Amino acid sequence: NDESGYDYAVAKAYAKINLHLDITGIRPDGYHNVENVMQTVSLCDAVTVELNESGSITCECDAAGVPTDEKNIAVRAAKMYADFTNLKKGIHVKIKKKIPMAAGLAGGSTDGAATLVALNCLNGNALDIDALCDIGARLGADVPFCIVGGCAYSDGRGDVLHKFPSIPNDTVFVVACGGEGVSTPWAYRLMDNEHNNFKDYEPRGTEGLKTVLNGEAPGKFYERIFNIFESGVLDERPVAAHIKDVMLSNGALGAMMSGSGPSVFGVFDSVETAAKVEDIIKKEGYFAQVCYPV
Ligand code: ATP
Repeated sequence: NDESGYDYAVAKAYAKINLHLDITGIRPDGYHNVENVMQTVSLCDAVTVELNESGSITCECDAAGVPTDEKNIAVRAAKMYADFTNLKKGIHVKIKKKIPMAAGLAGGSTDGAATLVALNCLNGNALDIDALCDIGARLGADVPFCIVGGCAYSDGRGDVLHKFPSIPNDTVFVVACGGEGVSTPWAYRLMDNEHNNFKDYEPRGTEGLKTVLNGEAPGKFYERIFNIFESGVLDERPVAAHIKDVMLSNGALGAMMSGSGPSVFGVFDSVETAAKVEDIIKKEGYFAQVCYPV
C-alpha cells in the first residue's frame, strides 16, 4: 500500500462454479430470480493494479478477444471505486487471463472483484468488505460473491449472499471448456422457452445438497448438484456434452455444467485420476485444469 511505498498490488481472480443453479421465476423488472450455490476454485486470472500520475484508467490483457476499454468490467470497477472514494490517481489494470471466456465461470466478474480488492489495498483499505460488495453489486450480480469467495448461496437476483455449508477442502475438480461459447441472455431465453416462462415451475430447492453437506459423508455432495441450464445448453453445445461424457467415463464421481455453460466441472476422488482426465481433454484440443476449492 501507499505507506509501504508500493504503487501496485496483485490479486488472484478466482473462477466460480455452480453447485446448484435453478430459476425460480421471472421478476416484474424482467430479471430472473435464481437459487444459486457457488464455489470459488483455484483456477484464476492474475490482476495487477498500478497507481500512476496519468490521470486516466487504462487496461491491458494477454488474451485476445478481451475488451480493454470500459467494456471490461475491471475498468468499470476501477472507475467506480475511484469515483466513490474520490481517488485522484491514474489506474492501470493488467489482466493475465487463464479463465476461459463466456464459459459460465464468472471470468469477467472475478476480474472486476479482484480489481476492487487490489485498489482498496493500494488505498489503505479505505472501504470495508460490505462497502466493496455494494460497489460490486452495481457492476454485476456475481461480483460480490467473487469478492468474498468460498461457498455461498444467493437467491433473488443473485447478488445477496447467504452462508452455505462448505464442500470438503480436499475435493478435486477438473474444470474444462471447449467449443462454441454461450451468451448468458441466450441461455435464459432458451430456459424461458423450455419452461413456459416459469409460470408453473417447481424449483427443487437446495435442501438435498445442504443435508448431504451437513451429514456424515459431505464428500458425496456430487450426488446432489443441479443446474437447470445443463440439459438444454448441452443439447446445443455438443463439445461440452462430449467433455462431460469424457469425465464420467474416465473416473469422475460426478460432473455438471457450470453457470450458463459451456464449461463443465468434474468431481474426482484423487488428483491422479483428475490429472489423467485433464490430460485426455487437453489432448483433444480443449481447455482443462485440475483445481481445488478456495
Ligand atoms: P458469468 O458466469 O458471470 O455469466 P461468463 O464466465 O459466462 O460470466 P465472462 O468470461 O465474464 O462470461 O465473459 C462474458 C463477456 O464479458 C465477454 O464476452 C467479454 O466481452 C466481457 N468481458 C468484460 N470484461 C471481461 C474480463 N475482464 N474478462 C473476460 N471477459 C470480459
